[in-house]
Amino acid sequence: MNVFELPDFDGHEQVVFANDPKTGLKAVIAIHNTHRGPAMGGCRMWKYVDTQAAVTDALRLSRGMTYKNAMADLPIGGGKAVIIGDARTDKTPELMLAFGEAVERVAGRYITAEDVGSSPADMALVREKTRFVAGLGGELGGRGDPSPATALGVFVGIGAAAKHRLGADSVAGMTVAVQGLGHVGYDLARQLHAAGARLIVTDIHADNCQRAAAEFGAKVVGPDEIYDVDAEVFAPCALGAIVNDKTASRFKFKIIAGAANNQLATDALGEHLKSAGILYAPDYVINAGGIIKVCAEYFKEPAEQVEGRVRKIADTLTEIFTSAASRGANPASVADEMARARFSA
Ligand code: NAD
Repeated sequence: MNVFELPDFDGHEQVVFANDPKTGLKAVIAIHNTHRGPAMGGCRMWKYVDTQAAVTDALRLSRGMTYKNAMADLPIGGGKAVIIGDARTDKTPELMLAFGEAVERVAGRYITAEDVGSSPADMALVREKTRFVAGLGGELGGRGDPSPATALGVFVGIGAAAKHRLGADSVAGMTVAVQGLGHVGYDLARQLHAAGARLIVTDIHADNCQRAAAEFGAKVVGPDEIYDVDAEVFAPCALGAIVNDKTASRFKFKIIAGAANNQLATDALGEHLKSAGILYAPDYVINAGGIIKVCAEYFKEPAEQVEGRVRKIADTLTEIFTSAASRGANPASVADEMARARFSA
C-alpha cells in the first residue's frame, strides 16, 4: 500500500500509524488540513477488512471533517482517527488508554472525540493520557450527546430549504419523510411534529417506528418504501449513499435535507438532483450541529452560544442555495467550492 497514491489521499498533512502490541492497538490518525486550526474529528472503531480499508476510511473521513468544520466556520481543521477492531469484543480500557497516548504524541495537531464504536466513557479514558479530547461526559466538564444539536441544525436547515425551494415560511402542513429514528432522526421528528409537519417514517427497528406513530402520529413505511413516498422533504438520518442510481429515479421529493453523512453515492448525483428539480442540502453543512457543540465544549465557549451558531446553518445553506441558483450550479459542488476557499487560505 502506497498511502500517497491511494484514491482518497488528498494532500493530507500527516498520517500517523499507532501500534501498541501490548494492548493490540492498531490505529490510524489522519490529519487532512490544519489551516483553520488543530484538526478535530471523532475516533471510529471498526472491524476493517484490512489495513488499507482502515487507511482509506481515515483519509476520506478526515477530509470530510475539513469541509464540515470550514463550512461551520469553526477554528479547527479536519482530522479523524480509526481504530482497527470490533468495538464490541476488542475494546478494552487499556486499548483506549494506549489510543490516548497515541493522540498525545501528535501533540495537539489532532483533537479526538467519540464516533461510531467509541463513547464518552472511552473518551474519559483517553482524557487520562491527553488533554486533546472532546465529547466528554458532564462529570469531566463535557456537554453530553451532540445529537440534539445536530437535529436542531437539520431542522433549521429544512426550514431554509423549504423557504428557498417552495417559498414556505415554515414546515407546517408539509410532509417530511424521515429515514432512521435514532439519536438524530427521532429528535428531528419531534421538532418537525411540533412545528406542524406531517411525518412518514421508517427504521429497521419497529419499536422506534411505533413510538413515532404513537407520539407524533407518524405514518410508518418499510425501509425500502421510504424512497417512493409522496413527501415534499426527504430527511435521511440513517445511512450514507442512499441517493444512488437505484433510488434517485424513484424520488418525488422537492428537497433532500437530513443528517446522514455522505448521502450522495457519487458526485454526479448532485447534478442529477438539480436536473430533477430536487434541492439538496449538502450533508456536511446541514449536519454540523454536533461538531459545533463539541468544538464549543473543547474551547470552553459559553454553552448559550451554541444554539445561535447551530441556527446559522440555515443562513449558510441559504447562501449556498442562492449562489447555486444564480450560477446554475448544484448546491453540493457550490458547498465544496466555498469550503475549499475557506480552508485553503
Ligand atoms: P443512530 O445510530 O442513533 O441512528 C440511526 C438509526 O437509523 C437507527 O435507529 C437505526 O435503526 C436506523 N437505521 C439503520 N439502517 C436503516 C435503514 N436501512 N433504514 C431505516 N433506518 C435504518 O445514529 P445517529 O447518531 O442518529 O446518526 C444518524 C446519521 O447522522 C448517521 O449517518 C450519522 O453518521 C449522521 N450524523 C450524526 C451526528 C450526531 O450528532 N449523532 C452528527 C453528524 C452526522
